[in-house]
Amino acid sequence: MKTIEFGEGRKKVAIVGSLHGNELIGKQVIEMLSKEKNLGARIKGIIANEAAIKINKRFVDVDGNRCFPGKRNGNTEERMAFEVLHELEGYRYVIDIHSTYAKMPDTIIITKRRALGLARKVPIKKLVMMSRSIAKGKAIDDFPHECISIEFNRDTDANHVIKLVKATIRNIIEGKEAAVSKDSYVVKGVLGNTGKASGIENYRLVKEGDPVAVNNGELIRSRKRFYPIFIGEKGYKNVVCMMAFKSARMS
Ligand SMILES: [Zn+2]
Repeated sequence: MKTIEFGEGRKKVAIVGSLHGNELIGKQVIEMLSKEKNLGARIKGIIANEAAIKINKRFVDVDGNRCFPGKRNGNTEERMAFEVLHELEGYRYVIDIHSTYAKMPDTIIITKRRALGLARKVPIKKLVMMSRSIAKGKAIDDFPHECISIEFNRDTDANHVIKLVKATIRNIIEGKEAAVSKDSYVVKGVLGNTGKASGIENYRLVKEGDPVAVNNGELIRSRKRFYPIFIGEKGYKNVVCMMAFKSARMS
């Protein structure tokens, strides 16, 4: 783990990047942002999983976003999680940057309603609440006061992310919400072990009886009505996609 502190101002914001070692965008964004002037806030950038970055893998021992709060003397990622949480002490706002192989629009992920305030300051339309059964209470978002993760496409340009992060920092400073209404979803399960995704697209409604996957040449049909997300992400083993439902209450 490496921290870079920069910027001046009354508000403090932490930015976590590369919690997954093969997602370099977070590291790149922190390094580029640290050279900018007039951010208006004190920023702590945390380049999290340096050990996994070195070997260009998602993680060394265990998924770095499924082992919080970590352990002082644990394995590589448990130690990282422990140190990251220590660095986040005193930070109300935490933005955790990820990238995904899934072809889907920029998506804010939260695991707790208390992060809604920060989520609303980010000019991104898609907002997804992960229920406890998915991240098992062990994601970084489960800990700091208002922590959001943002998932960007694998090929997203760092300048695009920087623009969004800067707009969010401005909204934090001014206590304003972003002028982008939210499409809100709740993830309640995963579609797993049913072969390869077929005929489905991220955020496009799947109805009961619609084909969703192919398994050994056999077409699998959905037993539920849901919105698929994270189709194509390689970080989740034996998962075709996550199953999300629209949530009016969150928006
Ligand atoms: Zn990630």
